Amino acid sequence: TERTLVLVKPDGVARNLSGAILSRIEAKGYVLADLKLVQAGRDQLEAHYAEHLGKPFYEPLLEFMLSGPVVAAIFEGERVIEGFRSLAGATDPTVAAPGTIRGDFGRDWGQKVQQNLVHGSDSVESAEREIAIWF
Ligand code: ATP
Repeated sequence: TERTLVLVKPDGVARNLSGAILSRIEAKGYVLADLKLVQAGRDQLEAHYAEHLGKPFYEPLLEFMLSGPVVAAIFEGERVIEGFRSLAGATDPTVAAPGTIRGDFGRDWGQKVQQNLVHGSDSVESAEREIAIWF
């Protein structure tokens, strides 16, 4: 079965949305295969976000991800990578569609784009690479 790495980012944990977010993924039919609460380290985040090194939002993104614990989860299911990204919604919570995690729980209260509640792997290769970083 296909697997994906899901992170509930520090804003999601701080806003007590971890359970609600995991619940939506389970309700869709994906199977929780592993789960933990973790304070990320800088090395871990540099590995996770290597493709964004040098972009203007790279440093703020790392600082945000270091600001509190994240929930790391592995979910399994048919086409779970694509399915979770569809559940998550657009990267920017301001424009993410209603019915998606970012569209329903993201707030336009002046938060930065990086505070978008969740991360999900974008390919089978990324999923395996990211799972090795977090588990
Ligand atoms: P993710 O990979 O986290 O699921 P994504 O694929 O929607 O999100 P990417 O383009 O891979 O988005 O960017 C990774 C993360 O970097 C985003 O989730 C967001 O937190 C942050 N980010 C992306 N673009 C910006 C931006 N322009 N300004 C601030 N942060 C950004």
